[in-house]
Amino acid sequence: MAQLTDDCFAFGGNLTKVDEALSQLQSILTPIVNSEKVSLERALNRILAENVVASKNVPADNNSAVDGFSVYFDDVELGTETRLPVSGRAIAGIPLDRPQNRGEAIQILTGAVMPNGPDNMRPDTVVMKEDCAIDNGIVSFPAGILRGSNCRLMGEDVKLGQPILKEGCWLRPQEIGLAASVGRSQLLVMRQLKVAIFSTGNEVLEPGSQLFPGAIYDSNRFTLMHQLKSAGCRVKDLGILLDDPNILSNALASAADDYDLIITSGGVSTGDEDHVRKVVEKEGSLYFWRLAIKPGRPVALGQLKDTPFIGLPGNPVAAMITFMQIARPIILKLAGANDPVRKSFLVQSGFDYKKKLDRREYVRVQIKTDEYGKLVAEKYERDGAGILSSMVFADGLVELSEDILCIEKGDIVNYLPFSELGL
Ligand code: AMP
Ligand code: MG
Repeated sequence: MAQLTDDCFAFGGNLTKVDEALSQLQSILTPIVNSEKVSLERALNRILAENVVASKNVPADNNSAVDGFSVYFDDVELGTETRLPVSGRAIAGIPLDRPQNRGEAIQILTGAVMPNGPDNMRPDTVVMKEDCAIDNGIVSFPAGILRGSNCRLMGEDVKLGQPILKEGCWLRPQEIGLAASVGRSQLLVMRQLKVAIFSTGNEVLEPGSQLFPGAIYDSNRFTLMHQLKSAGCRVKDLGILLDDPNILSNALASAADDYDLIITSGGVSTGDEDHVRKVVEKEGSLYFWRLAIKPGRPVALGQLKDTPFIGLPGNPVAAMITFMQIARPIILKLAGANDPVRKSFLVQSGFDYKKKLDRREYVRVQIKTDEYGKLVAEKYERDGAGILSSMVFADGLVELSEDILCIEKGDIVNYLPFSELGL
């Protein structure tokens, strides 16, 4: 007797495991390697297309980390107060105009280059002004200062010739700042992927328009276009397509000519009106279309002409999560980024959960702290693939691997913060 089920994943046939799909794709896809020079102002969230080597030491000279007095440590009295005459001043950008001699102190401000000394000697220590008293041109400070205190050494951040940024790295503010610190004003970056995005569905309408009975507003195009932008893409919004094979076929074929990647949502399941998958099969090729992932099983991955195609499921949460887990790694690979290391964290589960064997599931959670300071993942109260408010509640996903059947409150689980998934 046929088994009745309310599980929309019960559809028979083989499901492809997420990791298998991703590793097959990694071997099929080749990055688009064109590059361009951009100024540092425009370099944020771009992918570096060169290895950057430091052409300078940073700092370029020994300099003072504080406001105070530059001294030779060998002039400092051990176990008692030191008194030295102050005989000059060095400030950031205006160094002392003569060598500093043994037996004298030079007033020095933060960032000022440490004075040179005669012969091969050099003052090596700065006493903070807060530790000093000045009287009649004499600085005095108590015992206890260590050699080299408050002095920043040449090259202590970056050494001349040191590789500092690797090709394929994602440029965050700190990478851009480091490039600036060695004097770079421009960087060679990968060309941004041009991505066309469509929604599909007769019932899907533009937000702001008049709804007819059974219609819904398009949310996927907006979540996905911003997920694409966060992944560094240039996005072309191509609107909503009706569930009509001819319309779909024409729109997809023409997008394939102009873009590096096409992304759609909806129409990839097994319903009579799910034409997207069939159109891609007919017009191009399909690698696989049913992944062992929840939420999100129907994901179509294929090619139209030479252009990769990703058909995400229509349900809004499924679309977002399959974007993070499947589309984003593909995009980063195509765009020439190094393999992203997604950091996950072990936390305590705040919920019981049953799942199917051989399927990877993602649970939307918010991290809370219990009374002992431990991190606990609390699940959203409803977990349908259409409950978009759960994504607003959540700050990340608990990843339950294929081999897990159930978890209980208090079990240790793998938590992936949204920040690791490009959100
Ligand atoms: P489908 O995969 O086309 O059968 O769609 C699955 C579910 O997701 C249906 O309930 C659709 O109405 C809904 N859906 C499809 N596309 C969108 C969209 N762009 N925005 C919001 N919901 C959608
Ligand atoms: Mg549909």
